[in-house]
Amino acid sequence: MNGPVWAVVQQKDGRLQRSGRETIAAAQALARELGTSAEAVLLGDGLAAAGEELKGMALAGARVVEHPRLATYTPGGYVAALVPLVREERPAYVLFPHTYQTVDFMARLAQALDAGLLPEAIAFRRVDGEVRWTRPVLGGKLHAQVRTVGEGTVLVSLQSGAFPADGVEAGSAPLRQVAAAVDGVDLQREVRGFESAGGGAVDLSKAEVIVAVGRGVGGQEKLAPVEELARLLGGELAASRPVVDSGWLPRERQVGSSGQTVAPKLYLALGISGAIQHLVGMKGATAVVAINKDASAPIFKIATWGVAGDLHEIVPALNQALKERAGGA
Ligand SMILES: Cc1cc2nc3c(=O)[nH]c(=O)nc-3n(C[C@H](O)[C@H](O)[C@H](O)COP(=O)(O)OP(=O)(O)OC[C@H]3O[C@@H](n4cnc5c(N)ncnc54)[C@H](O)[C@@H]3O)c2cc1C
Repeated sequence: MNGPVWAVVQQKDGRLQRSGRETIAAAQALARELGTSAEAVLLGDGLAAAGEELKGMALAGARVVEHPRLATYTPGGYVAALVPLVREERPAYVLFPHTYQTVDFMARLAQALDAGLLPEAIAFRRVDGEVRWTRPVLGGKLHAQVRTVGEGTVLVSLQSGAFPADGVEAGSAPLRQVAAAVDGVDLQREVRGFESAGGGAVDLSKAEVIVAVGRGVGGQEKLAPVEELARLLGGELAASRPVVDSGWLPRERQVGSSGQTVAPKLYLALGISGAIQHLVGMKGATAVVAINKDASAPIFKIATWGVAGDLHEIVPALNQALKERAGGA
């Protein structure tokens, strides 16, 4: 099938989410690989600003599907809006970010379209003319190489950070307003409001710099220099699971398979061994700096830069250097 590659992008309050830009970067890369075009689809209401953002990207087209009934996500509304579009245009692939929202409706969409469904891909490559997708299985312990079988559109969701948002190719995309077939449709859910989880919980997925601590920090009373480092770098503090299980930092700061998935530009891993359950949550980081006193710790295998040493000596020295730099010394 030689149709275009679509990216269905998520927006919030009319602004593109980083996950949306990651999806577009992936669609552009896949379209290049297949020798076809990349296009975007935006669903919601009040989409002028998000549409402007799309205009500046190298896309053959961007469909803006606006309707007051799409202002808030509902599975019924999104499936009803997407089904006729996909049926009519027959894209080869429709890419989505792998989020709570897309997990909620993609299976239903695939069923309505009789389309293939491939959740949580982290990479693709072309082998003997076909696309092979990589997706984690068994909690990230293994990577499965998967190809889809049969004709027709394939829906793929992409793990956060797998395709960095700054990989989006700039260009100019013609916007097309498309009518949404959602009048009279059963939305199947009524959203009564939103509240932030955990009363102002941090959303680590948006942080550009993350300073993460592991069990190697040795106790809650030893966190102050690490907190200072996070402050000096303008970053968020994060943790491995044992740190959270020990109550040294709150659960909302846990990174990993049972915590958040993050993709910052810089990830400092301090006293973290690099267990697979931690790595699946942060391997989308652009650069990883690991400090660990065990030179054979697995974290060094994925680190961009590594320092084999005691974090209690290195972190205060780093803080001092950063303060001197900020002071112009
Ligand atoms: C189902 C399941 C889900 C899980 N989910 C998650 C998850 O979401 N996130 C997660 O992180 N883990 C998760 N885990 C746990 C995971 O398997 C590891 O146990 C955990 O990631 C290890 O955390 P750590 O690296 O902080 O601790 P350790 O593995 O104990 O590593 C501590 C490291 O600190 C180093 N160190 C010690 N002292 C110093 C010092 N002074 N200076 C520098 N380095 C020092 C040591 O050399 C060591 O490498 C999960 C496990 C299971 C089974």
